[in-house]
Amino acid sequence: MIKIAILGSTGSIGTQTLDIVRKNKDLEVVGIAAGSNIAMLEEQIREFHPRLAAVGDEEKAAELRVRVKDTDCKVAGGMDGLLELAAMKESQILVTAIVGMIGIRPTIEGMKAGKDIALANKETLVTAGHIIMPLAKEYGVRILPVDSEHSAIFQALNGEEHKTIDKLLITASGGPFRGKKTKDLEHIQVEDALKHPNWAMGQKITIDSATLVNKGLEVMEAKWLFGMDLNQIQVVVQPQSVIHSMVQFTDGSIIAQLGTPDMRLPIQYAIYGGTRRYLDGERLDFAKLGSITFENPDMETFRGLPLAMEAARAGGSMPTVFNAANEKAVALFLQRKIRFLDIYTIIEDAMERHEVVSNPTVEEILKIEQEIYKRIESRW
Ligand code: NDP
Ligand code: MG
Repeated sequence: MIKIAILGSTGSIGTQTLDIVRKNKDLEVVGIAAGSNIAMLEEQIREFHPRLAAVGDEEKAAELRVRVKDTDCKVAGGMDGLLELAAMKESQILVTAIVGMIGIRPTIEGMKAGKDIALANKETLVTAGHIIMPLAKEYGVRILPVDSEHSAIFQALNGEEHKTIDKLLITASGGPFRGKKTKDLEHIQVEDALKHPNWAMGQKITIDSATLVNKGLEVMEAKWLFGMDLNQIQVVVQPQSVIHSMVQFTDGSIIAQLGTPDMRLPIQYAIYGGTRRYLDGERLDFAKLGSITFENPDMETFRGLPLAMEAARAGGSMPTVFNAANEKAVALFLQRKIRFLDIYTIIEDAMERHEVVSNPTVEEILKIEQEIYKRIESRW
């Protein structure tokens, strides 16, 4: 039996993780956590019988405690609850499917308690990769990628030696606005940006895909996960989203991972530590697909990617600034308080004002995050 705890069980990745649990008799969910959606948490408690449920919102935690008092599930609240869930002794794997930098502390807590991490929460590696990766080594835990691109690379690298990697080719769909120019993006509405051509995901990452910020975060994530230099990572737009990423080796060979877009595959591959199990679902039909096309990303229009590269090159605390400014800007865009293109202005402005702190501690990262949030709130 593999025992797992899920941070963010009510979200897009969280619910698909539970679907994988439903289909595999050797998986057991021992803990679940979410921000505030206690109605769904209650359903999950009654279906999966976890021992612990954590709710970010303390008041909602108290409400859930009353609602499930007829069960054996303990309910914990606030950050302390998330940390308790991350370190709970019954689990072996922690799935980090929470959105945003709030995932940093629970991920670290989980690693310190010896849990392998099935990592979806890319914001954690982007901002604290210099802390997470050495910590994984120190505690002997694995960081298993859930993000489809990183899972593709993980799959392509199976059995290969690190020194034979020439470069990583991270594929991108280009998002819903591929082909548009800046002037076409001036009056983009929230509804337009939430329509991803190939993937159904949570709101934040869907907006990040439209701005190409997501691809920028993924480049940084890949740098940490696979120990690569930035100049060994290339983004290739592949609009059909069937090639999930590729690795080019020093002999010129390229290994790609393909499949229909279905996040359950990388989730399952991560939970089983990089080994395969049966998974239902649509298979790729090449004749029906017809063609797979490639192009370069439009870095002039979709500034999320070049800004991310700039943040990655500056290093230290700059990726935190990039990420925190983006998180706040996306929240404001979803609340219809700013326009789509303001997301880039907000990120750029935050980065310009920031003086890099090299090797920031977790406390410094979280402090910078709060400062960035406050500054943006006061100005927009
Ligand atoms: P969703 O918005 O669908 O879900 C987010 C989850 O996080 C929910 O369970 C939510 O709970 C929980 N959450 C939010 N805030 C808090 C909080 N303060 N305390 C505790 N829990 C909280 O996001 P996704 O599933 O799309 O994405 C999750 C992560 O995975 C992100 O980092 C994303 O970048 C990454 N990812 C997602 C992919 C996808 O296909 N969706 C693909 C690759 C990576 P509640 O419902 O109560 O708000
Ligand atoms: Mg991805």
